[in-house]
Amino acid sequence: MNYDKIQAAIVEEAEAFVNDEIRPYVNEFEEKGGIPRELISKMAAKGYLAAPFPKQYGGLELDPVYYGLFTEAFGKGCVATRSLLTVHSSLVGETILRLGTADQKNKWLPLMARGEAIGAFGLSEPDIGSDAKGIKTTWHEEDDCYVINGAKKWITFGHLADVFIIIAANNGRSTAFLVERSFQGLETKRIEGLMVARATYLAEIYLNNVRVPKENVIGKLNFGFEYVVSTALDFGRYSIAWAGVGLAQEALEAMVTYSRNRSQFDQKLRNFQLIRGMIGDAVTKIHAARALCLRAGQLRRDKDPESIIETTTSKYFTSKVAVEVANDALQVHGANGFTNQYPVERLYREAKVLEVIEGSSQMQQEIISNYGLQHYYIRNKKK
Ligand SMILES: Cc1cc2nc3c(=O)[nH]c(=O)nc-3n(C[C@H](O)[C@H](O)[C@H](O)COP(=O)(O)OP(=O)(O)OC[C@H]3O[C@@H](n4cnc5c(N)ncnc54)[C@H](O)[C@@H]3O)c2cc1C
Repeated sequence: MNYDKIQAAIVEEAEAFVNDEIRPYVNEFEEKGGIPRELISKMAAKGYLAAPFPKQYGGLELDPVYYGLFTEAFGKGCVATRSLLTVHSSLVGETILRLGTADQKNKWLPLMARGEAIGAFGLSEPDIGSDAKGIKTTWHEEDDCYVINGAKKWITFGHLADVFIIIAANNGRSTAFLVERSFQGLETKRIEGLMVARATYLAEIYLNNVRVPKENVIGKLNFGFEYVVSTALDFGRYSIAWAGVGLAQEALEAMVTYSRNRSQFDQKLRNFQLIRGMIGDAVTKIHAARALCLRAGQLRRDKDPESIIETTTSKYFTSKVAVEVANDALQVHGANGFTNQYPVERLYREAKVLEVIEGSSQMQQEIISNYGLQHYYIRNKKK
């Protein structure tokens, strides 16, 4: 088999895995408040927790384009497992892979690939979200270690994770640390009462004089934002961009199926022009969203610096598309759409969060408009 066929076959197998092992249980995960450990082990056995890692660390070596399509497959079937891939494999795993020391990679990546260590990413705090450079969690140096104090909030898989990337500040400069659950002074508390992400072990993390060995710094001391946060969020945004495509595709299929089955005024809903308009718009938006993500993936594969802005535009656009298509899908379902007998009520809730996480839509607009203002300015030409 040639390269593309091998990569495509992994994605196809993942789609079948999602349909057989995950999709039937999605409502149950929400009701029980988590995806079971056995499922995480099954995903690990298939290599899915390490899909973008090199083989030497137990990975599947999916390149960015196929890793995107793989993420779409999970995003289509189940937000919770896709969220695990976003934080564990992308934000934490790919960041260690890119910026970790040889020891950090050798220690954590195989454990993460086998699902023996789950990773989570701790940047946000109770009082700090978009203004992430203002974090209040601090670190200071003592003889043989760094000591961290503070609190993190909204940490996906935080209540289950074994290892955290924690961003902490010192005199206005930040550093990223690998903090292990077993370190004294670290506690997590599950966040309850959620509209979304009910199966993702969302947690607050309390760090009380947590002593971190010096070798657990990722990247360089005092360059937490410049290296680690920007790199991790770029991986995270790429994952969320594809999550939006998957979620919107799922909503479209639900909308189409319902419109072909449900009759009113002695006709199938699909015959009504106003319903057909929503379907036509959804198809167009999803095709455009997928094309944008594929372009970002190709640029990432080519290690082109433009991939960063293209990833941002993809995340901004596809999360918007997911919200719009899920909204229309619910509309097409009428009252039935509000029950969990149909997937659209869940998709409607879960789509919205894509416009908030990994930088809100307003933050993406800021980045994209800065790019536009620099790149599309027509300066006066000399006559
Ligand atoms: C389900 C879920 C999972 C999450 N997982 C993680 C995780 O794993 N790790 C982690 O670190 N964080 C996580 N987060 C936190 C997430 O990153 C933040 O919610 C996000 O960065 C936005 O911050 P905020 O919620 O504090 O909103 P705020 O920053 O308080 O913003 C509130 C509103 O104001 C807008 N706003 C803020 N500043 C500006 C501005 N300058 N111009 C225009 N509008 C502005 C925002 O766009 C937003 O609409 C998660 C959040 C959720 C809901």
